[in-house]
Amino acid sequence: MTLTPEMRERAAGSLDGEEDYPLREAIDHPVDEPRIQRAVREILLAVGEDPDREGLRETPARVARMYAELFGGLHQDPRRHLRKFFTETCDEVVLVRDISFNSMCEHHMLPFMGTAHVAYLPGDRVVGLSKLARVVEEIARRPQVQERMTEQIANLLVDELHAKGVAVVIEAVHTCMTIRGVRKPGSVCVTSAMKGCFRNKSSTRAELMTLIYGDRR
Ligand SMILES: [Zn+2]
Repeated sequence: MTLTPEMRERAAGSLDGEEDYPLREAIDHPVDEPRIQRAVREILLAVGEDPDREGLRETPARVARMYAELFGGLHQDPRRHLRKFFTETCDEVVLVRDISFNSMCEHHMLPFMGTAHVAYLPGDRVVGLSKLARVVEEIARRPQVQERMTEQIANLLVDELHAKGVAVVIEAVHTCMTIRGVRKPGSVCVTSAMKGCFRNKSSTRAELMTLIYGDRR
């Protein structure tokens, strides 16, 4: 998919040079756990609960720690994982399949989880395979929408690896669709971002799809 200028602007926030993966500086804006605690206490009161009863007493603090973890990616720059590369001539598709991730739907603050398949056709840079998983993980750990997350991972790889092509396919279950709203358990949302040769060359794209889904069809 292609991002509209408006979506791009939204993704960029107000930070220069961070267009696709806005980064909040940890030093200036650390996760404010006491503030989350106060907010969670408010929510409990608002739904008609007693936040002072025994079972809930520690809940605001637990939720604050959880959010600090789930949104930790806001304070990490995923690009750093790709800055250590090997100069290598490789003319074959590199694919890491089934990278599991958890993220948080920014519309409902409910988790969505699934797997990402990340592939690239190297130019002259090759990175350690685990780095691709680290990138997925950090981009997932922030308020997200799946479409943007897919695009962000692909753009980051394009920028950093000078690859001839990049492909990202993400399959995820959104709890905001399974436990509320339309309540469709089992529905899987699939998004993809194809860059360079994966976009232009149908044979390369077909090869990739066989690599990802070949033995599962
Ligand atoms: Zn949602």
